[in-house]
Amino acid sequence: MSKLTGIIVYNIIKKGVLSMKQYQELRPAEKILMGPGPSNVDPRVLRAMSAPVLGHLDPDFLEIMNETMELLRYVFQTKNQLTMAMPGTGSSGMETVLANLIEEGDKVIVCINGVFGGRMEDICHRLKADVTALHAPWGTVFEPDTIKEALAKTGAKFVAIVHAETSTGALQPLEEISKICKEYDAMLLVDCVTSLAGCEVKIDEWGIDAAYSGTQKCISCPPGLAPVTFNERAQKVINSRKTKVPIWYLDLTMIQNYWGQQRFYHHTAPINMNYALRESLRLIYEEGLENRFARHELNSKALKTGLEAMGLKMWAQEGHRLPMLTTAVIPEGVDDLTVRKYLLNRFGIEIGGGLGEAKGKIWRIGTMGYTCTERNVLLFLTALESALKDQGYKVEPGIGTNAAMEVYASAKKA
Ligand SMILES: *Cc1c(COP(=O)(O)O)cnc(C)c1O
Repeated sequence: MSKLTGIIVYNIIKKGVLSMKQYQELRPAEKILMGPGPSNVDPRVLRAMSAPVLGHLDPDFLEIMNETMELLRYVFQTKNQLTMAMPGTGSSGMETVLANLIEEGDKVIVCINGVFGGRMEDICHRLKADVTALHAPWGTVFEPDTIKEALAKTGAKFVAIVHAETSTGALQPLEEISKICKEYDAMLLVDCVTSLAGCEVKIDEWGIDAAYSGTQKCISCPPGLAPVTFNERAQKVINSRKTKVPIWYLDLTMIQNYWGQQRFYHHTAPINMNYALRESLRLIYEEGLENRFARHELNSKALKTGLEAMGLKMWAQEGHRLPMLTTAVIPEGVDDLTVRKYLLNRFGIEIGGGLGEAKGKIWRIGTMGYTCTERNVLLFLTALESALKDQGYKVEPGIGTNAAMEVYASAKKA
């Protein structure tokens, strides 16, 4: 070997192939996702995602889109033509609804009793709306009279409110508020990110004008799409805007022509995410909404009963607690992060901590969609008992799990 060849060979070995960083195949461990979302995903949905990519104008894909729209109408309990899935997570749905309907200077009432109401307010300000923010203590819900007074005072065109506040665990009743909105000729815009497919969301019967959701909560699909629905009245408002929708990517005046008859290209649909959503919706359709809601009710009841038996206090207003997300007060002397790490490292269970003013004070325990099972609830209560004991918290062995088991036993008898 000449000296030059030697140098070349040396450099290839030293700086080239052999010293290349090795990247391992992705193999994340299976976790039990009992936080505020994402929730676990049925293997059927993951299999659907691995199907071949189609063109976004391929007739086979257009059929998949049509069926997805039909299934979304089933889940939203609506006949709304404009019901589809936007690219992006739940927040993209939030921005789609607000940016398409609201124009600069429009009067909007935003109801804030947690993080997500606050996010709606932020977006409304960015849209240069004339915002009236109503506040209720975190963990509580709004009384219809509060909204009535604000409508009488402001004459607002829109009322924006969160149905299931995932940051607090409170479920907002909507029927009365919707009636008041009709009385004052205001449009009702609802965040159904966490509630959809976990409890009743009756878009038509309740008279909701526009709503949005996300795929990764009770729909149990990976994060990445945001189902939205608009009634005819809302559609008219969008199509008679004086100004262009300020966000090009979410502009429904253009996107509706792709999901509608014309099939105009606007942006490339996230093909495989749509496969996943269709399969998740098909699972919901097979189970039936009533059965699915009953499953969330039962597991949530067992969970809450178990936690209370262990001496933990529920945080959200009684009578308005979510069936897919339970907020429990962290007992005195117990460290939030240590417990959550213990659950994750020893049991592979993820739960959520508090957000904003609830940080360090509460845990948020999700029982959403595919994760919402008796097995997961019982395992979680057992795991939490172990984690609490590790922190020196006194709890009678098995008391939480046994209390939950009794809930299941009496449900089976009934
Ligand atoms: C999760 C959530 C959102 C935001 O959804 P992302 O998918 O995180 O963008 C909005 N509103 C509520 C009530 C939520 O729970």
